[in-house]
Amino acid sequence: MAERIPVIVEEECIACGACEEICPEVFKLNESLGFAMVINPEGGDEACVQEAIDNCPTQCIHWSDEME
Ligand code: SF4
Repeated sequence: MAERIPVIVEEECIACGACEEICPEVFKLNESLGFAMVINPEGGDEACVQEAIDNCPTQCIHWSDEME
């Protein structure tokens, strides 16, 4: 089980789609809602998630230790 999971601060997301492009197993852009969602927190490896975090233009993806 993953020790940490990515979370998206939806209010800060500009729906650019970069996270989904980089790590589609984990992130999915919800165009009708206007932000991206974590569809499968443990679906990708950490390097992929980290790359998405590093490339998010508003830096609204964070690691969380909390399993929701
Ligand atoms: S990369 Fe960041 S701003 Fe872009 S869709 Fe993903 S969470 Fe939103």
